[in-house]
Amino acid sequence: MQTHLTIASLRAALDAERDAGKRIAFVPTMGNLHEGHITLMHRAINHGASIVSSIFVNRLQFGPTDDFERYPRTFEADCAKLVEAGVHHLFAPDEQQLYPSPQKFVVEPDPFLQTTLEGEFRPGHFHGVATVVLKLFNIVQPHAALFGKKDYQQFLVLSAMVRELNLRIEVLPGDTVRDPDGLALSSRNGYLSDSERAEAPRLYRLLSALREQILAGNRDFDALQAEAMAELASHGWAPQYVAVRRRSDLQSPSAQEGGLVILAAAFLGKTRLIDNLEV
Ligand code: AMP
Repeated sequence: MQTHLTIASLRAALDAERDAGKRIAFVPTMGNLHEGHITLMHRAINHGASIVSSIFVNRLQFGPTDDFERYPRTFEADCAKLVEAGVHHLFAPDEQQLYPSPQKFVVEPDPFLQTTLEGEFRPGHFHGVATVVLKLFNIVQPHAALFGKKDYQQFLVLSAMVRELNLRIEVLPGDTVRDPDGLALSSRNGYLSDSERAEAPRLYRLLSALREQILAGNRDFDALQAEAMAELASHGWAPQYVAVRRRSDLQSPSAQEGGLVILAAAFLGKTRLIDNLEV
């Protein structure tokens, strides 16, 4: 694996790949890599391309009370995992490379998509995500890019960006990778205490139970959402939302609609967990 700290070094290497007729698949990350990330790398490799991954903790997508400073940074261990996964190029810029001066040209996602659910509780988050991903796309110029459905709303925001701005990039989803007890893998799981870690799979169990109820014909989404929020609260969580939405655009569905996704975000102690399940 070649590690590139600068845009110039990465561009020179990828120009050579393109000249050799290689396709380029890109998996952006914030590091602290786990099986969820690595599964995306494998999916990219199956795509038969030269694989580029990036590690960059993007300040622009963190709110003032978010965990930017304490976000886990584990560069050496991440490099070993990327080598083992068969990644060809790692782009690991510092802030000076990506933001040499304050970023004034920015990407504003769809007003609804960037303010509902995650956007309501993390104002400005998707503006920061879309801005850095467009910059990374322009630097890497990949044929395909892979994003996990663990961050369902992010996947929709970035798919819409690529579609509406006519970027010539194929956006591919990766299924959510979970621990055996159902907890979705996340860099933030490392913040959980032992007792919180034992409690955390409740979120997935709750989403699974909700899915069963919907599949059994219960279409009173408002009541289902309220019950699920109360259930989390009664076990010490501070839920922010549990929402049944349309998969395609995250709008609230009518009672007859199919193609749904249930999304949730809740604090367990000081740790904010998100998860979702397609119905
Ligand atoms: P992050 O480092 O958290 O920005 O994530 C980088 C990429 O990995 C994003 O596309 C995430 O959606 C994806 N990802 C994170 N966790 C998981 C998971 N448990 N399963 C699948 N993909 C994931």
